[in-house]
Amino acid sequence: MTNYKLLAPGPVPIPLEVRKILEEAPLHHRTPEFEKTLSRVKNKMAKVFATKQPVIFHTSCGSGAMESAIVNLIEPGDHVLCIIGGKFAERWKEIAQIYGAHTIEWNLAWGEALDLKKFEELLRQHGPQLKAVLSQACETSSATVFPIEPMSALIKKHSNALFMVDAITALGCMPMPMDQWGLDVVVAGSQKALMLPTGLSFIALSEKAWDVQKKNKTPKFYFDLDRERKALEKNQTYFSSAVHHWRALDAVLNLVERKGWSALQKRCEVLMKATHEFVKQMGLELLSKAPSSSVTAILLPKDVKGEKLRDWLESEKNITIMGGQDQCKDKILRVGHMGDIHDEDMIQLFAAIAEGLKRESQWRKTEPSIKKILKEAPRIFE
Ligand SMILES: *Cc1c(COP(=O)(O)O)cnc(C)c1O
Repeated sequence: MTNYKLLAPGPVPIPLEVRKILEEAPLHHRTPEFEKTLSRVKNKMAKVFATKQPVIFHTSCGSGAMESAIVNLIEPGDHVLCIIGGKFAERWKEIAQIYGAHTIEWNLAWGEALDLKKFEELLRQHGPQLKAVLSQACETSSATVFPIEPMSALIKKHSNALFMVDAITALGCMPMPMDQWGLDVVVAGSQKALMLPTGLSFIALSEKAWDVQKKNKTPKFYFDLDRERKALEKNQTYFSSAVHHWRALDAVLNLVERKGWSALQKRCEVLMKATHEFVKQMGLELLSKAPSSSVTAILLPKDVKGEKLRDWLESEKNITIMGGQDQCKDKILRVGHMGDIHDEDMIQLFAAIAEGLKRESQWRKTEPSIKKILKEAPRIFE
């Protein structure tokens, strides 16, 4: 199998000491040994979410936790304001609609920064009847962050709505203290900032959201959060636990705690800054007006077909990054900053993109020199 350099915004490269755990012999989930792991990991994850509430684990990809948020809190006819700045917001809106929500959509251009004044106007208009506001913390398809803390304060000022945040490419790589910011639902996934394979997702509810959950009548089976919460109190999951993922998560949390979460966040920021500098030196531009530290979207010159360049990087250079989806198809490249990424990986990527652009484009040809910026980067996983 070819060993690809994985520089996509999820899945991301997994640190070696975590990969070793994935090779270990299986352990049954109903054993005292696993229950100890579960107990340790659930407590540590509550710290990562910065919440006093339990963090619930589903054996699913991130979209499962998004669906869980909806089936546990939304009922047919509920008014839900959806902040739509890209593909993942579209997905959450669709899930809400399938379960009968009355969605009010605020469509932002992909990459546009969210204007808090306009947001407040919308809340003035719709606030009283809103059951929930749905937003990404980082919209991965446009590499754009939203100002979650002030948004949360405005929602509280104008409504009684639950603020539901998809933090799948935010939790871990940027501050997202759930209780302090008054977030009602935070959703995360294993294969992005948390550096694991795809397969675990996480969801935490505020006290207010748990009250809503208890009264919720939407049919649900696998994603019943109350049932999972009770199992978790006994250091179990209701269904079979993804034991390898839990143990690998334990290792990731140990690894990051040794260096501090701020070091991991700084590392994402340094890789972002390096990528921004590369973009500037190439005479290119970013898609986003509110760029994320977990992923960067590079706007390509008009004569370049993004998918062709992306495929070339993969087949000729063994580097996997992502192109654009939907309206950004062929127009952007997306580079991830999460996971066990080394300076050399970034240097090879930049050199490869520069070479690819030279082949594909009449664009001004410049040789990037980004090594000096990368020197700042603390090498936290080496
Ligand atoms: C990746 C991602 C998702 C979907 O997660 P899956 O694990 O692919 O289901 C949802 N929201 C955001 C912001 C993401 O980056």
